Amino acid sequence: MPKSLRKDITTAKELLDNADTILVITGAGMSVDSGIPTYRGRSGLWEKGIQIGDKSYGYDDISSLDMWKSNPKLAWGFKSHFYNLSNERTPHEGYYNLLENVNKKEDYFICTSNVDGYFRKVGFDTSRLYEVHGTIDYLQCMDINCNKVNGIVATTPDIVPDYDDETFISKTLPSCKYCKKMLRPNISVFGDFEFYGKPYEHQRRRLDEWLTNIKKNNQTLVILEIGCGINPHSLRMSDGKMMSGEWKMPVFDNNIGTIRLNPTDEQSDEKTIHVSMGAKNGIRSLFS
Ligand SMILES: [Zn+2]
Repeated sequence: MPKSLRKDITTAKELLDNADTILVITGAGMSVDSGIPTYRGRSGLWEKGIQIGDKSYGYDDISSLDMWKSNPKLAWGFKSHFYNLSNERTPHEGYYNLLENVNKKEDYFICTSNVDGYFRKVGFDTSRLYEVHGTIDYLQCMDINCNKVNGIVATTPDIVPDYDDETFISKTLPSCKYCKKMLRPNISVFGDFEFYGKPYEHQRRRLDEWLTNIKKNNQTLVILEIGCGINPHSLRMSDGKMMSGEWKMPVFDNNIGTIRLNPTDEQSDEKTIHVSMGAKNGIRSLFS
């Protein structure tokens, strides 16, 4: 292990020791060690895009509201692929290691853009979880007004369409039992002003209350950011603030610092210790 990395880990461990509470913020990089690729970024599977016919698509194109509207079979095929992959794979040991160690703190909260549902699978307290981008475990109607009346539905394997392995084109499209329009995952994608976020509002309220109590109780807070890339839809932190204004995060009071676990995407700022490691090994090093 390089000397500089050892030093970063030591500094990060001291920060963790000095914190009463921990806010864990995770992105796609968190599940890479489970065998789920990030699809984008330097280590992304789709760095060069996917070629279908004479067209090349990037991840941001496929996972966008535009695609759900203009080419729903491709959008569904890709999500079916992701759904199957998430169910075939399992949360890596870093998840369990993290759970054991956050439980030793006075308090913790998880704020994640991961839609694979692994935090729930592993047994994190769901009242301390904010799934910012939604989850593949639920579907919504393409008609947001239908959702407002009928809510969301659980994703079951029989609803998820089969797709062509080479083209990612789905063979069927699932439809809403209320209005017959298409069902899509209850996941926020790029440019998604039609994401139905109500099911997650109570999670967000709990996060806000949790942060308010930290200030009220005069506790110290450390933020552990794991696998968040640099893009407008990411939960990445910079100088103690979330870079994207999309999620309207409040000021993190009593924050004594941020620790970033990420093997790439280094970005220097005063309040962040960048530990250049992936999730599984990084978590093990921080808490051993
Ligand atoms: Zn509907």
